[in-house]
Amino acid sequence: MSNNGEILNCVIIGSGPAGYTAAIYAARAGMKPVLFTGKEPGGQLMITTDVENYPGYPDGIMGPQMMEDFKNQAVRFGTEVRMELIAKVDFSGPVHKVWTESGEEIQAHSVIISTGASAKWLGLESEQTFMNKGVSACAVCDGFFFRNQEVAIVGAGDTAAEEATYLSKLCKTVHMLIRRDEMRASKIMQERVKNAENIKIYWNTETEEILGDDNGVTGMRIKNNVSGEVSEVPVTGFFVAIGHKPNTDIFKDWLDMEDSGYLITKPDSAKTNVDGVFASGDAQDHVYRQAVTAAGTGCMAALDAERYLSAKGII
Ligand code: NDP
Repeated sequence: MSNNGEILNCVIIGSGPAGYTAAIYAARAGMKPVLFTGKEPGGQLMITTDVENYPGYPDGIMGPQMMEDFKNQAVRFGTEVRMELIAKVDFSGPVHKVWTESGEEIQAHSVIISTGASAKWLGLESEQTFMNKGVSACAVCDGFFFRNQEVAIVGAGDTAAEEATYLSKLCKTVHMLIRRDEMRASKIMQERVKNAENIKIYWNTETEEILGDDNGVTGMRIKNNVSGEVSEVPVTGFFVAIGHKPNTDIFKDWLDMEDSGYLITKPDSAKTNVDGVFASGDAQDHVYRQAVTAAGTGCMAALDAERYLSAKGII
């Protein structure tokens, strides 16, 4: 066991806005938190370019820089940041146990989960090639860069419908690619999409390739899976909105979660069903999924953890 057998006050799992905000609050409250970054330090903001909707940055900021700032602020108050992935947990006892990928066991009185969610992707090579050069999984984050331009969006759920509607207010035309002949989105969201004059729906349509050059996306090659017809459509932005997957697999034996994997927290709190285990950010929020809301729930988790530790006389 690590930490010389010491039981830590607070382990934070995850290093996006939720995790680092929890760390800032926990560190300032004297909890000496240890934060495990996971495999993708910084989380989803690391695959964003400019962040223009986070208050306090009037000129915008690059996602990776913002996460560096968050981290430095957490470290400044004494957070220990460890570049490791937590691979296993055991929440059965009064003291919680987590294990790093290399098998090291850590014990803690409280655990804050901020493991985030990952966007699902189509799996095309060109999607990777043009990531952040026109390919995005977040219309609210990146739509602004495609003002008055032709963009595409893939998906037919509520997220795709909401994002298509959002993009339609900014962009010239939104080409919406739907793989079946109907949408999964709720009726009201579908109506919004169908009523928007500049959303062009392509039914039964799949993406064969995202096209581009050194400057980024220039178009897409799509195929109608009923007629077999292949066509090319010029676009500069290509948004993928086919769902997100919360990174909560390792908690499924211990924590209440929705069928989709999102952790369930008690109303008006970050408390899970296990005492001393708190959840924040996109791992528990499938509705807002913004950096600022993740930071907000990270703060909630740290305050709840502090109250928990202090009620037990630990801090
Ligand atoms: P969903 O899982 O509901 O929808 C995913 C969509 O992506 C489906 O239409 C699916 O197609 C399509 N899709 C999946 N894989 C592919 C692929 N490889 N190629 C093309 N299309 C693909 O995810 P959402 O993110 O939309 O929603 C998640 C949850 O969040 C839902 O419960 C939703 O209701 C909720 N939500 C609610 C909102 C609100 O109330 N304002 C806003 C956003 C989300 P197919 O239908 O063919 O399977």
